[in-house]
Amino acid sequence: MVTVAIFDTKPYDREALSAGVAGEKDAINLRFLEFRLTAATAAAAAGADAVCVFVNDQLDSACLERLSQLGVRLVALRCTGYNNVDLTAARSLGLIVTRVPLYSPYAVAEHAVALLLCLNRQIHRAYARVRELNFSLKGLVGHDLHGMTAGIIGTGKIGRVVARILHGFGMVVVAYDPLPDSAWAAREGVSYVDSLTLSTISDVISLHIPLTQETYHIIGTEALNRMKPGVILVNVSRGALIDTSALINALKSGRLGGVALDVYEEEEGVFLEDLSGEVLQDDQLARLLTFPNVLITAHQAFLTEEALTDIATTTTANLRALAAGTSLIEGSRLV
Ligand code: NAD
Repeated sequence: MVTVAIFDTKPYDREALSAGVAGEKDAINLRFLEFRLTAATAAAAAGADAVCVFVNDQLDSACLERLSQLGVRLVALRCTGYNNVDLTAARSLGLIVTRVPLYSPYAVAEHAVALLLCLNRQIHRAYARVRELNFSLKGLVGHDLHGMTAGIIGTGKIGRVVARILHGFGMVVVAYDPLPDSAWAAREGVSYVDSLTLSTISDVISLHIPLTQETYHIIGTEALNRMKPGVILVNVSRGALIDTSALINALKSGRLGGVALDVYEEEEGVFLEDLSGEVLQDDQLARLLTFPNVLITAHQAFLTEEALTDIATTTTANLRALAAGTSLIEGSRLV
């Protein structure tokens, strides 16, 4: 029997993971916890062989040490990004760390495009207006995406799907990736350019890169100043790719056409939570919410039935492998 403590559980996690181990109750015991994992809450993993965590759990060295002391052997991330885990500490403690290396990239890519379409055609404003019986179109003029240039930063699994969709709209698609795939680009009608060129010629820029030391605040004042006036910036990857202060200044200057965010650098403890009855303490997020040309969703790009099923399948297969002492899902092991 393997027991797994699942932190930051939402109803959709419970449903997908429970379905993933249906009929195996005697082999895999899922312990659902609604709070996030931090060093302070790690004690809740007592008696568990594994923990299962998401993007806003904090697996720093103090937390990992606590987990190790409690006898936890596996940290299973139910996401792709792993910037919230101190892998060096995990390695030295002998903990196994896995992620979900592949789940529906369509879920995330389609959400990025949904945000872009919504923002460009001001659907978010139109929706609110019409519900107030205000049928005026004043201030709702958008642009044809057809013929515009889309710059895709990062042509991995998700960036490629976004590139294909935007190409289908008749956009000119350019891309930057330090590891370009020329054969893919030629097939899809995409041109690789350097990052400077991408930022100066694109009408839409979409980020599809991991958060690392190198990519932290990759979009700051300098990068924003290089972008075309009126550019629409989309970030469904990780919040800290963008320097929020620099973004707010650029928005205040009126240079940016729009900003669509599914992630935010200080999202921990805010995104995924219902704070509707509370006073928002984050002044930068509050400021972002005042711009008519900023559209924010709370880290929901992954949230499709298909992606949740993929995530549950990989996660539960790794739990089974831990129990049986067999191989983990290929490509899922980080440490
Ligand atoms: P991937 O590993 O398939 O692709 C990432 C690509 O980025 C690679 O091709 C890599 O070479 C490239 N890259 C790395 N550094 C770069 C840089 N400085 N400039 C340009 N390109 C660079 O990853 P993926 O599956 O496409 O996911 C991308 C990111 O999306 C993840 O790291 C994760 O943070 C984020 N994500 C968000 C959600 C969500 O719900 N919002 C869901 C899944 C993934």
